[in-house]
Amino acid sequence: MTHVFPLMQHQGTVEEMYLRLKDKQNNELPVLVNAVKLPAANNGFVMVLLPIHRRFIFEDQLVAAKKEAERALREKQLVVAELERARAELEHKHQQLTELNKQLERLATTDSLTQLANRRTFEQQLELELEKVKRGYASAALLVMDIDHFKSINDNLGHAEGDVVLRRMGQVLAEQTRAIDTVARIGGEEFALIVSGASLAEAEQAAQRIRELVEQTGWAHGQVTMSIGVTSMLVEDDLVAVLQRADRALYEAKHKGRNRVEVSADY
Ligand code: GH3
Ligand code: MG
Ligand code: MG
Repeated sequence: MTHVFPLMQHQGTVEEMYLRLKDKQNNELPVLVNAVKLPAANNGFVMVLLPIHRRFIFEDQLVAAKKEAERALREKQLVVAELERARAELEHKHQQLTELNKQLERLATTDSLTQLANRRTFEQQLELELEKVKRGYASAALLVMDIDHFKSINDNLGHAEGDVVLRRMGQVLAEQTRAIDTVARIGGEEFALIVSGASLAEAEQAAQRIRELVEQTGWAHGQVTMSIGVTSMLVEDDLVAVLQRADRALYEAKHKGRNRVEVSADY
């Protein structure tokens, strides 16, 4: 009556009021209360109490289920976060591996002193170029370049200064080279350039340009010059044959006084 009576006074009706009562044994007794004023009587009213024990149990179960769902959701969120962390770590490791592979690839293909292609890469590229020439796809030429009197640079200035010259020579040659060409350090002070799509005359011009450029480059200790042998790649060539011809032309350039370009006679 504590709950119902004031409402009856105030609004004359109670609709579906939910009360958790106790019975005499102190058991929970949930009820739904409806009440309405009797029109005839002054303060009289009719009140219906509907026990809703089963609904009460369902409600408890519903609350428990909701809690369980929330707990499961939190757990799932933790698992998802952990998974995301693992995925990010995997991604990071993958990037590291890719970077490491790139570094290894660079180390395997590059000359560490000059950062030009190394001898191995040069030979691979030469084989590829010879394949193209054999199939009639393109013409190509080879320049073999050797620094003149390099031994005296080493002897006069020391090996370390010799290395500085080699490194600088690497830069000069790289700047002169188109992306499709391969410039490599193939020996101590020996370099090579594969000129894709070039005729012998074009390759000779390129060689002269490089020779002049080296001659005119300002070197820390004085002048540095280079002798260059040039040859065309022939349909019947193999790696050894084309290199031998270029070397013979280079020897000719040295023999005739250095700081020269010689073209192979028997191309
Ligand atoms: P030429 O005009 O006939 O080519 O004379 P050269 O003195 O250049 O020829 P030679 O082959 O006698 O000398 C080449 C020198 O290059 C000898 C060697 O000590 C030096 N050399 C080879 N590799 C390196 C290197 O990595 N660094 C340095 N600093 N010197 C090197
Ligand atoms: Mg040499
Ligand atoms: Mg030399």
